[in-house]
Amino acid sequence: MIERPYDVLVVGAGHAGSEAALSAARMGAKTLLLTQNLDVIGAMSCNPSIGGVAKGQIVRELDALGGEMAKNTDKSALQFRTLNMSKGAAVRSPRAQCDKKLYQFSMKETVESQENLDARQDEAAAVWTGDAGVLGVVSKRGVRYRAKTVVLTTGTFLNGLAHVGLETYPAGRSGEPPATKLSSSLRELGLETGRLKTGTPPRLHERSIDFSRTERQDGDNPPVPFSHFTERIANPQLPCYITYTNEDAHAVIRDNLERSPLYSGRIKAVGPRYCPSIEDKVVKFPHKERHQIFLEPEGYRTREIYVNGLSTSLPEDAQLRLVRAVPGLERAQITRYGYAIEYDFCPPTQLHQTLETKKIPGLFLAGQINGTTGYEEAAAQGFVAGVNAVLKLRGEAPFILSRDEAYIGVLVDDLVTKGVDEPYRMFTARAEFRLSLRADNADLRLIGAGRRLGLISEETHARFLRYQDAVVSGKVYPDAELAPWSMAKAHAERGIESAYAGYLRRERSAAERLKKLEHVPIPAGIDFASLSALGREARQKLDAVKPRTLGQAGRIPGLTPADVQVLWVHAEKSRRQTQEAAVEAES
Ligand SMILES: Cc1cc2nc3c(=O)[nH]c(=O)nc-3n(C[C@H](O)[C@H](O)[C@H](O)COP(=O)(O)OP(=O)(O)OC[C@H]3O[C@@H](n4cnc5c(N)ncnc54)[C@H](O)[C@@H]3O)c2cc1C
Repeated sequence: MIERPYDVLVVGAGHAGSEAALSAARMGAKTLLLTQNLDVIGAMSCNPSIGGVAKGQIVRELDALGGEMAKNTDKSALQFRTLNMSKGAAVRSPRAQCDKKLYQFSMKETVESQENLDARQDEAAAVWTGDAGVLGVVSKRGVRYRAKTVVLTTGTFLNGLAHVGLETYPAGRSGEPPATKLSSSLRELGLETGRLKTGTPPRLHERSIDFSRTERQDGDNPPVPFSHFTERIANPQLPCYITYTNEDAHAVIRDNLERSPLYSGRIKAVGPRYCPSIEDKVVKFPHKERHQIFLEPEGYRTREIYVNGLSTSLPEDAQLRLVRAVPGLERAQITRYGYAIEYDFCPPTQLHQTLETKKIPGLFLAGQINGTTGYEEAAAQGFVAGVNAVLKLRGEAPFILSRDEAYIGVLVDDLVTKGVDEPYRMFTARAEFRLSLRADNADLRLIGAGRRLGLISEETHARFLRYQDAVVSGKVYPDAELAPWSMAKAHAERGIESAYAGYLRRERSAAERLKKLEHVPIPAGIDFASLSALGREARQKLDAVKPRTLGQAGRIPGLTPADVQVLWVHAEKSRRQTQEAAVEAES
């Protein structure tokens, strides 16, 4: 059976898949979102929280471009907090604790209500290709879904294997089966795959916690919306609580390390160094007397509490002893145990900056399949892939954000240029121009691009242009002509810009210098292996990444300035030869 053809077919309706499908459909492409289970569109596999340091900036950028994540967060968050309020503007980041089911169902409703977008429950077992590239996907039941472009966003599901203590079982995440066929199809097509792992903490029943032994933490009052387009948060706001591990808890971990899948050698894959399990924290920082733990509600209509900071895959009896050693949790009831999960991913150096695979024209990959971790990183890639799939079909220039324009530009460039050797998450330190890439100015940086893609309406854009004028020139407009922006926000923005004026000027001139290299293209189809002036390692690295510009080549780990100089000479020679050939052809 062959289904009717689509322009864009997205596999997987997690955070990457939802953004990919919505952006493609909103740009007018006939889009199909194919996913294993329609009930869990936009499911939050781990902590139901969005944003945080650097991740919050990504969500604001996505919002300015016309993405959905920030709006969906505003509909479903039960606590908003701006992190790092006592520090500089560059590292201030919005974070929101969401009602996990509200987030999921409101994303499902948005997807289902979107024009040009069909959602279908099925599992992709293979990518269907022809001589010219992708033709669609074949489902587990043998149905052929035809499409001009395909975006794979399969998260932690490819050959997923869950671990609790020394027990393992196949799973995409808790309670859901893995996708077992698709990665071998990718390997047959010549794509390389690898293995990574991540983990999650246990959940507790609220009534079993003694909150009087913990510190209460309230959110911002009034709550500040995530999206540029939300005027007010209507949801009631709930507190979170803070407690700490102690020596007793650490002793439980040390005593059970040989039963930990991480330390017994059962898990071979690499996990996120910056989102470590509590086992890792205790082993790697033996002198630290305590680790902070946040107790966060999972929603309005559930009594389950997320134990942020206690990610573990110890056996169940050890998890219970560990939890009960923590102040306030002495009588805690675990509703779900923590676990670790291993899964297949595709090293992202196999991708162009558009997230299209270099090997199979029309096949794009986005989200955790590219070796990242986090909802925000996934959503941003989904957006980039969905937009570029449509631009490719239209024969238009690709949508590529540079490192000085957006964290999303840093994310994609890091992935395709440097690759990953552990699950990649965003940090402010990854961005060279972080003073310019602030959460507060994401609209000023990116709404124009969103408008050019057709994802920001003309009316909204007109209001934004007035706000931009108020920021740049100081002109005063009535708030009614600016809403959802305001003169108060314009004033605050001018304040930030003038306080950092000197630093920003220096950052912008460094960005200009970088841009010069970014604008020197490396000729397409260049045979890097034939550049004998380069060492073998440099030739291999260049051949794997196939950089498009000198700037990108310079960021490949291990490439020296001397190697870039060789490429420069070659690029110049090739440009001169092309010019001479053109002159000759004319005469
Ligand atoms: C146990 C666990 C712990 C985590 N811990 C953290 C953490 O501490 N910090 C953090 O930032 N992130 C964490 N994450 C990661 C976070 O959940 C992911 O980064 C994010 O959800 C990835 O988004 P995605 O869209 O790429 O994939 P997912 O959200 O995983 O969505 C993938 C979707 O694709 C569908 N699918 C998969 N294969 C197929 C197929 N063949 N056919 C059809 N549909 C398919 C699935 O059913 C699912 O709906 C954790 C995830 C898990 C599972």
